[in-house]
Amino acid sequence: MSLPQIVAIDGPVASGKSTVGKRLADRLGYLFFDTGLMYRALTYLALREQVPIADAAALAAFAERTEIDIRPPEPSERDGRDATVLAGGEDITASLRSGEVEASVSPVAAVPAVRAILTAAMRRVGLRGRVVMVGRDVGTAIVPEADAKIYLTASVETRAQRRYAEISARGEDRAYDEVLSNLAERDRIDSSRQTAPLRAAADAAQIDTSGLSLDEVVTLLERHVTGQLETGNRSSA
Ligand code: C5P
Repeated sequence: MSLPQIVAIDGPVASGKSTVGKRLADRLGYLFFDTGLMYRALTYLALREQVPIADAAALAAFAERTEIDIRPPEPSERDGRDATVLAGGEDITASLRSGEVEASVSPVAAVPAVRAILTAAMRRVGLRGRVVMVGRDVGTAIVPEADAKIYLTASVETRAQRRYAEISARGEDRAYDEVLSNLAERDRIDSSRQTAPLRAAADAAQIDTSGLSLDEVVTLLERHVTGQLETGNRSSA
């Protein structure tokens, strides 16, 4: 059986998508594409340029004229990043995980015209194949023809603790309660928006990562992707 060309991994905030997706891509020798970085980059740039976040038309026009490039990091850029994000040649990677960006990214991503522009760009990358793409709507909207689809979940507490540990490890000072409430609010907006809301594709394998180690999740996914695991629901719970 041949390997799937497009692996779509979706799930809520801090469900493990990026960490696991990157490791799976490395194991398969595929490109890793974290689609959330595009929404983060657009949000960061809009805040910096003082584009009103509540103005959907202004945001769409801004998205139309903004060039965002994502590429694998150069050896000289190895600071733990999985990708380098460039806007007009400027490296903005380090600015994309701030509290300010996280407070505004879901409202920006809920604007249908913004999604149409970014989804088209993401789709072009996906259709080249040999790619692991992670996000909220990869399997349902960006590349519904993906030949392997996975939906990762975990309890809210597990996810908030993971995200808090990541933020603390970066040396940032953010309160646990703020991390938890941002996560819950982003999930709420991402799940309830009209265009391409967060949800599992009907043909996605669902995996609950609560209580599993990263290695266990990667191994489970790899087995799924290489066809050793029957397609269907697979929960650790
Ligand atoms: O995955 P990450 O947390 O970096 O994504 C940031 C935000 O980008 C999400 O909360 C969501 O609002 C948006 N997003 C999206 N569709 C995707 C990926 C991310 O709406 N495919």
